[in-house]
Amino acid sequence: MDILKCSNLTRIYGTGGGKTVALNHVRFSVQKGEFVAIVGPSGSGKSTLLHLLGGVDRPSEGTVEVGGTDLYTLDEDKLAIFRRRHIGLVYQFYNLIPVLTAEENIVLPFLLDSRKVDTERLNEILSYLHLEDRRMYLPSQLSGGQQQRVSIGRALFTHPSLLLCDEPTGNLDRKNSEEIVSLLKESNRRFDQTVILITHDERIALQADRMLYMEDGQILRDEMIRQPCVHS
Ligand code: ADP
Ligand code: ADP
Repeated sequence: MDILKCSNLTRIYGTGGGKTVALNHVRFSVQKGEFVAIVGPSGSGKSTLLHLLGGVDRPSEGTVEVGGTDLYTLDEDKLAIFRRRHIGLVYQFYNLIPVLTAEENIVLPFLLDSRKVDTERLNEILSYLHLEDRRMYLPSQLSGGQQQRVSIGRALFTHPSLLLCDEPTGNLDRKNSEEIVSLLKESNRRFDQTVILITHDERIALQADRMLYMEDGQILRDEMIRQPCVHS
């Protein structure tokens, strides 16, 4: 089953002479349970692509379907709700709210939808991320690796269809990077969590099932590294 399908995806920034074609008619699909790495030189359009897949931008042309929903036919409010329920985003610099504790940051998207927080799920997530003893800490009281685990918890809390990560280890040392990648792999293998991750680190890219190589706003190569492990 395709969990993600995009076609003809184009993003042009600016107008006239200052115009940049950041993404040029990109087309690909991802199956549920795949772990996909996006690689390519700086400026090749990786972040632009990830933002469009995550519903946080608008394409100049083309479509993105997540679990059968055509994202950019939704109005802003519906898109925001869809995003909070079905798409998890993880950034290089964590993007945590400094005045909220680790656990408050994790459940934030839920609170924004005025939904009742499932404390069992919260405890599961804290345990999976080895953060039980840090739940009441503020981001400033946590290490970089711990902050990134909180941001992964926030992204996974709602069982998203897609987990999108933009250089999640870009700010971490080797040991913490390996820990983050093994958590993402575990989530992918045990729970068929679909993961799409941008990375500069070849060691990380080679742990994916599939690698998309971008240049000049296009996918130049789409390589299967190994069969994805899908349970059903
Ligand atoms: P990557 O993530 O591969 O480094 P980006 O998607 O960030 O690439 O950028 C692709 C191209 O789009 C680059 O030429 C970049 O300068 C340009 N770009 C990215 N964001 C903007 C923006 N907000 N306004 C104008 N140009 C942008
Ligand atoms: P249930 O199906 O009973 O709701 P889950 O299978 O969702 O339970 O969760 C059981 C365990 O898996 C918990 O430890 C939870 O933290 C973890 N978990 C669930 N989904 C994910 C995921 N996408 N990534 C990582 N861990 C997950």
